[in-house]
Amino acid sequence: MPSKKTAKKAKKVASKRAPKAAKYVYSFGKKTDGNAKMKNLLGGKGANLAEMARIGLPVPGGFTITTDVCVEYYKNGRVYPAALKGQIATAIKICEKESGKKFGDQKNPLLFSVRSGARESMPGMMDTILNLGLNDKTVEALKVKSGNGRFAYDCYRRFVQMYGDVVMGVQSRTENEPDPFEHALHLVKKEVGVTIDSDLTEENNKEVIKRFQKLIKDRTGGAFPQDVQKQLDGAVSAVFNSWENERATLYRQKYGIPAEWGTAVNVQLMVFGNLGDTSATGVAFTRDPANGENVFYGEYLINAQGEDVVAGVRTPFPIAQLADDMPKSHKELSVVRKKLEKHFGDVQDFEFTIEDGKLYMLQTRNGKRTGLAAVRIAVEMTKQRLMTQQTAVTKIPADQISSLLVPIFDTNAIKKAKLMATGLPAGPGAASGKIVFNAADAEKEVALGNSVVLCREETSPEDLRGMIASDGILTSRGGVSSHAALVARQMGKVCICGASDIHIDYASATLTAGKIVLKEGDSISIDGTTGEIFAGSVATAPSEVSQVLAGKMKAEKSYTFQMFNQIMKWSDKYRTMGVRTNADSPEQSKSAVSMGAEGIGLCRTEHMFFEGDRISYMREMILAPSVAARKAALKKLLPFQRKDFNGLFKAMEGRPVTIRFLDPPLHEFLPHDDASRRDLAEHLGVSPEIVSDRVRALHEENPMLGHRGCRLGISYPEITEMQARAVFEAAAQVLKLKRKIKVKPEIMIPLVGFKDELDNQVAIVHRVAAEVQKAKGVKIDYLVGTMLEVPRACVTSAEIAKTAQFFSFGTNDLTQTTLGMSRDDAGSFLSKYKDLDIIPQNPFATLDQEGVGSLVKQGVDGGKSTNPDIKLGICGEHGGDPASIKFCHNAGLSYVSCSPNRVPVARLAAAQAAIEAEA
Ligand code: ADP
Ligand code: MG
Ligand code: MG
Repeated sequence: MPSKKTAKKAKKVASKRAPKAAKYVYSFGKKTDGNAKMKNLLGGKGANLAEMARIGLPVPGGFTITTDVCVEYYKNGRVYPAALKGQIATAIKICEKESGKKFGDQKNPLLFSVRSGARESMPGMMDTILNLGLNDKTVEALKVKSGNGRFAYDCYRRFVQMYGDVVMGVQSRTENEPDPFEHALHLVKKEVGVTIDSDLTEENNKEVIKRFQKLIKDRTGGAFPQDVQKQLDGAVSAVFNSWENERATLYRQKYGIPAEWGTAVNVQLMVFGNLGDTSATGVAFTRDPANGENVFYGEYLINAQGEDVVAGVRTPFPIAQLADDMPKSHKELSVVRKKLEKHFGDVQDFEFTIEDGKLYMLQTRNGKRTGLAAVRIAVEMTKQRLMTQQTAVTKIPADQISSLLVPIFDTNAIKKAKLMATGLPAGPGAASGKIVFNAADAEKEVALGNSVVLCREETSPEDLRGMIASDGILTSRGGVSSHAALVARQMGKVCICGASDIHIDYASATLTAGKIVLKEGDSISIDGTTGEIFAGSVATAPSEVSQVLAGKMKAEKSYTFQMFNQIMKWSDKYRTMGVRTNADSPEQSKSAVSMGAEGIGLCRTEHMFFEGDRISYMREMILAPSVAARKAALKKLLPFQRKDFNGLFKAMEGRPVTIRFLDPPLHEFLPHDDASRRDLAEHLGVSPEIVSDRVRALHEENPMLGHRGCRLGISYPEITEMQARAVFEAAAQVLKLKRKIKVKPEIMIPLVGFKDELDNQVAIVHRVAAEVQKAKGVKIDYLVGTMLEVPRACVTSAEIAKTAQFFSFGTNDLTQTTLGMSRDDAGSFLSKYKDLDIIPQNPFATLDQEGVGSLVKQGVDGGKSTNPDIKLGICGEHGGDPASIKFCHNAGLSYVSCSPNRVPVARLAAAQAAIEAEA
């Protein structure tokens, strides 16, 4: 007889062999299976519906079909897991019990909404179907039950339209053809003399429905399904299928959402905002998402359903007016507002419906907000103890902090500007550009190098490409929760919506406000902070924060600056990586320091050789026929370099300054056309042929992999010597100033792949340093290190670190050399790579973590193994990219270096990386 233990074991094995079917369906309502933490499985909408039900908010019951189902559906060639059907049937039973209605019943029919919901909300990307469960019979039952025929047929009309469009695919066939349902509806409205949908009578609606059903038949050959189960199956499949439609795919690409996440489907009991004047539907934010002010913000429509509010057909009322229209509901909503913020610890964007005086919550999510609002909300909610400092820091998308530094309209220019109209401010900042009326034109103009303002009556997801291209977006219809406003807010675009005094006429390509008529291609300027629209182009000026940073405005005068400053202080408190800047001039360096830079991580010395006379001396040096002649030319360049370094050291006031020695191939400095070659020949007192010959001799087939970087310094040690001398003599000058300034040069040898290359150059640097220190009688605190930008350096970093006092990962070149892809030529194929998901992100903007990143890690580990105190930084473009900064933190780098105006972004991103790594 087997022992108890082995029996148990056997049972365990057996159950492993025949696993219980996974749970594919989660209910919410009176019985709630899910919660807010289950976003990956239930999608954002489903998880939060469950959470709201949990905390006792009035959520109509329903169920969520998980994202796993979506994933399996695609994996198995659009086939559902077998267990799904039964689980849905059970969930429907629960809804029937909760509501006392029955799905498809001819006396008391239960109706559903079918809604998509991915992990992250994707506004407007996937379509919702309302009033599902209506057919020619159940609509009559709904009429009897509600005692309201207009209402019942209003619901049915909407359902047939949404179903015909989303599930059966009846849509406009050409760009110019109007939506066929809207068109049919429009004709009936015209025939019966009605302007607003809700004024259509029962009979009118019946007529529309008849035409809709005929339209579906004509177009698809199939009938609109009367079987409610078929309706539900079709709707669920439509949601899953929409995950791979073009709009959703485009959005995912733009925001880096992986296709593998999939979407969930929410099936929910319908509640009705279109039941008459005691019913309404609306959307609200717990705070103003445009500027972050702590006011209740939103809009609603009476006797309306679903997307009516955001569709911009009727202009909705501001939420404050609900206090007069429906005082009880307004009070309830105000309580909900507080409860949501307290429970979710962040600003919520929620949707509600009032059915005959009773409030229902249909959705909540963290509100999308502008950069300005994000900063204000984070600071104020922390002071109200609704958030911790750490949360406040992580709540602001690091990129968005830069929107506080973007230009505003110049105050003097604005006084003279011609104000045309005012709309709702939906995305702060100032934009000026050519008027375009559609997305295609926007892209075209931008490709030509023009800035544009996209002007539309309202926007839809089809306009997304155009919105991405435009500097500003202006709409004449739609409220603060319209598509245009949502998308602009998220993309950080300047946007004004619902400017109802403006008339846009696509046919004549004009935009009119009163007597002012602007045509396509004319300039327009919009202020997304105030909502003001100006004819013509208006000059812009630095933002308040920039002005305070530049010492042109007092900090006390700018609340925006104070909030910005608070976030920066908290960021500095939590980050462990340093933030430096890439700068070549004292002005750039000072501006970077004012934004918090703690040093220069990359000073490209070649930029110093182009100004004024220098380029001629540089050319003289390059074309020199002998070492002696080259030394003579270098001698002329020395004072310029010394002066530049002197300026940098003074501007940086003792902060470390990393100076990279000459890096680009020499031919970049040479004249490439005949006229300038003749000028140069004259300057040098030689014949133009000699110049041409020398230029030809310097020609390289592959300059990026050619005679450049430390290879130059090895071929021409006198160049390295001159640069070292300039650095140390400048350092000595500054050290001898009366004003006590420390100097910390960090000399960086580029493009090293072999330890011996570095040794060769370092020997020169040390020799010159000793000479200068002796001659000037000073002691200079300096380092010599190298830039890791070829794979060989990363692989042999343990060797190289025996000489190098620091490494700085030059990830621009490291990406080029690791991927074998030229940054300047990748444009022609990278977008295809992105479309195909081969390389989802541009590797020159966001670090390729698996490839380049693993070389960086190897470089770090090797370097530390032989030189535990080695300093580690990064100075490629990636140093200003939040995702790459996070990688740098985790890889153990000591600092990142980025362009001056990315410094605040980097400080914030570095803090977020540290906080996330702790959590
Ligand atoms: P989106 O993700 O585009 O916001 P939703 O799934 O939230 O789409 O649905 C759009 C609108 O449909 C909601 O704002 C709401 O007004 C309406 N709606 C959805 N579900 C229901 C429901 N159960 N009862 C009434 N209206 C609903
Ligand atoms: Mg919604
Ligand atoms: Mg380089």
